[in-house]
Amino acid sequence: MSTVRVRFAPSPTGGLHLGGVRTVLYNYLFARQHGGQFILRIEDTDQTRFVPGAEQYIQDCLAWCGLIPDESPAHGGNYGPYRQSERKAIYLPYAQQLVAAGQAYYAFDTPEELEAKRKAVPNFQYSHATRMEMNNSLRLGEAVTKELLEKNTPHVIRIKMPENETVTFTDMIRGEVSFNASQSDDKVLLKADQMPTYHLAVVVDDFLMKITHAFRGEEWLPSAPVHVLLWKYLFGLDKMPQWAHLPLILKPDGNGKLSKRDGDRLGFPVFAMNWTDPKTGEQTKGFKEMGFLPAAFTNLLAMLGWNDGTEQELFSLEELVQKFSMERVHKGGAKFDFEKAKWYNHEWIKRLGVEGMRQVAASQLQEHGIAAEADYTNKVIALVKDRCTLLTDFWQESKFFFETPAQYDLPSVQPKWNDKKQQFFVEIIRQFELMQFWNATDLEKEFKEMMAVHELKPGDVLLPLRVMLVGGKSGPAVFDIAAVLGKEETIARIKAMMKLLQLQK
Ligand code: GLU
Repeated sequence: MSTVRVRFAPSPTGGLHLGGVRTVLYNYLFARQHGGQFILRIEDTDQTRFVPGAEQYIQDCLAWCGLIPDESPAHGGNYGPYRQSERKAIYLPYAQQLVAAGQAYYAFDTPEELEAKRKAVPNFQYSHATRMEMNNSLRLGEAVTKELLEKNTPHVIRIKMPENETVTFTDMIRGEVSFNASQSDDKVLLKADQMPTYHLAVVVDDFLMKITHAFRGEEWLPSAPVHVLLWKYLFGLDKMPQWAHLPLILKPDGNGKLSKRDGDRLGFPVFAMNWTDPKTGEQTKGFKEMGFLPAAFTNLLAMLGWNDGTEQELFSLEELVQKFSMERVHKGGAKFDFEKAKWYNHEWIKRLGVEGMRQVAASQLQEHGIAAEADYTNKVIALVKDRCTLLTDFWQESKFFFETPAQYDLPSVQPKWNDKKQQFFVEIIRQFELMQFWNATDLEKEFKEMMAVHELKPGDVLLPLRVMLVGGKSGPAVFDIAAVLGKEETIARIKAMMKLLQLQK
């Protein structure tokens, strides 16, 4: 059995959709599982769609996810170059071989002629039904074709799709798939500038790079008959990789593929990382910058179309490598659910050590002009980490540790404030001042003893204490907060709010 070799073959045309990352992930898992190689190949033959920066961005996204290719434009490898535009000279002989065998032909139709035809004939297809009306070697004959070629007349090479042939292949997810070849048009294989189209390049490169399995999105299924025929004509079907067409990721509401527009409309990211369109300057938010952990992102993507047959939902990348199987990938599309995506992230944040959040915390503090001791920040992280659904929630969840509350939720304390409570807090301040050890356990003990003395219930004084320290009703356990804030700050905050309560009287 030959070594498993799989590839992710994106066109560098913009941001990387989460469906693309899922394709990367499934390729990666399959390669790791079989001790094979995972290749990144940049399919940039369509120069009109080329977007500067997009290739680097793809590599950055893969690096962020921890899905590093074994061979790629950046890392090299034995089967390079890994950018199709740098392989231009490779494809022409294959196209010529197809022409010589009568499986492809030269077409001299100018863009204007094609445009006129499309205007005149609704849904015009360059196919078996129309090819004999066009300016190509099939209609013009050998002598005219030769003359035109000698005069360097601009031309393309098109595949001649057979008329009465059923093309069949076995998809690892869908089983046997059949197409009537004549339903597909005569796709261009080589353009006038001798650059191949995707269809020719993908087949030639999968062959030359010894790809054994080709996994890609379902949207490529209609192109499969063209590819299967090219394999048959050029290299033999026994050499063809095993295909798997991965189910679409669907919009949460309604039907159809999840698009960037759906993300904008519903307020969630669709790209892996922030993407700025170099032409329009338009910025699109990514999962990374929104505060997702790579472990959560890969976990949630794995589950969009696959499960291991049990109820288990949380899988590390290593575990996915063990358990993933293409046979268990669903045929039907998977609806994207952002709330569920956040649930995964929250679960992974809970599993994260304090150090896993330190960098995010540091950059958020810096953003707010806060310079805090690392030790203090670590204590805060330990307390608030599990309350964050997104890494970017850190500031919102922790700001009261770094600056005194700008506002207090007085309405939830004021109406029930009385002299008894006032007296209690006057004495608790005195008691706190005397405390030798400042930790949550001792603070709670002191506080409860004082409550008993004053015949107050927890409900009477715990909420006011929380509002004094936090400004509002949220946050982790209140004595943990006081312990981290320290004696001086805790007492200062209690006093500050008591003053406000007095003033309101
Ligand atoms: N270049 C195609 C894309 O942009 C690759 C499809 C395939 O994997 O064959 O997705």
